[in-house]
Amino acid sequence: MPLAAAALTMTISTPVYLDNHATTRVDRRVLDAMAPYWSEKYGNAGSTSHVFGWEARDAVESARKTIARLLGASPKEIVFTSGATESNNLALRGVADRIEQRGHIVSVATEHKAVIDPINRLARRGFDVTWITPRQAPDPCAGFVDPQAVADAIRADTVLVSVMLANNEIGVIAPVEAIADLCRERQIRLHTDATQAVGKIPVDVASLKVDLLSFSGHKMYGPKGIGALYVRRGVRLASQIDGGGQERGMRSGTLNVPGIVGLARALELSVESMGPETQETRRLRNLLFELLRDSVEHTTLNGPELERDDLRLAGNLNCSFRDVDGEALMMSMREVACSSGSACTSAHPQPSHVLRAIGLSDDATRASLRFGIGRFNTEEEIRFAASCIAQSVERLRKMR
Ligand code: PMP
Repeated sequence: MPLAAAALTMTISTPVYLDNHATTRVDRRVLDAMAPYWSEKYGNAGSTSHVFGWEARDAVESARKTIARLLGASPKEIVFTSGATESNNLALRGVADRIEQRGHIVSVATEHKAVIDPINRLARRGFDVTWITPRQAPDPCAGFVDPQAVADAIRADTVLVSVMLANNEIGVIAPVEAIADLCRERQIRLHTDATQAVGKIPVDVASLKVDLLSFSGHKMYGPKGIGALYVRRGVRLASQIDGGGQERGMRSGTLNVPGIVGLARALELSVESMGPETQETRRLRNLLFELLRDSVEHTTLNGPELERDDLRLAGNLNCSFRDVDGEALMMSMREVACSSGSACTSAHPQPSHVLRAIGLSDDATRASLRFGIGRFNTEEEIRFAASCIAQSVERLRKMR
């Protein structure tokens, strides 16, 4: 460990967590809100004959109202799920299952696997799919999805478009409003995976004009295993999980009351602190990049330029370190927790499909690390992490 880093460990606890796109620490205030719903108010929200059930149902409905208000939706448009993977599956398969004839689907090559895989399944069932290629590196807006590319992909038989609001690897933000205009004109359903956006950037379903929007608790300092799908009034979905008929028949299963309460509280806190938090995570993200660029030769930024605040999540950084294997780099730095490629797909470690899709070579893709700066990170942590990374890169390069 370099001297400067050694001095800093005295004021911070290690490992330093810089993987806030993979998941986030549950905020203490979220835990406090959830606490009573484990062992005091533990009723089933579906029990209608006693106070335990009523209490649970009231908590769920109050959380639903809060979430709806914060996203510009109405409470009936919020369907609770187990997380964004399920929300995406319900949205995409739910729309497709209601279509008699096969049709055409448009999505983007840089989507999360929780969109790509359900769409691939639909393709095996006979749907035709066009995967749009976003802007290519070294474009200063690399990863950006041009609305014109969506317009060009749409055909007379297009039934569904799915474009993620914010990317989990390069943080690029999509022009969903403009894409929505294209879809509305043609009565095509539009879904957006907003898992990395909700709680980080303003998300208002009315101005986004989407039909379906997925999000998850654990990306915004809430619990894992809870998420929701916004379903615009009038949009009909085929349920994917049948049983007790909860969530107006769209998603059966006993409701996760503590999770739902936690999801609402997490969103509330994120919206409340969004302005200052965005500023601070952006400052720390920019500092991390400057420190890395200044101390590590041949460091390149992946994704849109950091100056494009409107196009990139404030807490996202993705860089490549020439001649270094990202996986080996991560493994050699026990004090810094970050990610090479996407941690969500780490069951199958492969070079990131997102970086490949924006035109990076295999080498540059393998040499990449993703950092997610979040609410609980400090400047000391960033300085410490930068110095660890610089040292590890140097060591690995010498070993070549
Ligand atoms: N979509 C995106 C963009 C994500 O980042 C993630 C989580 N990595 C998911 C979907 C899946 O969310 P969950 O873990 O809630 O199923």
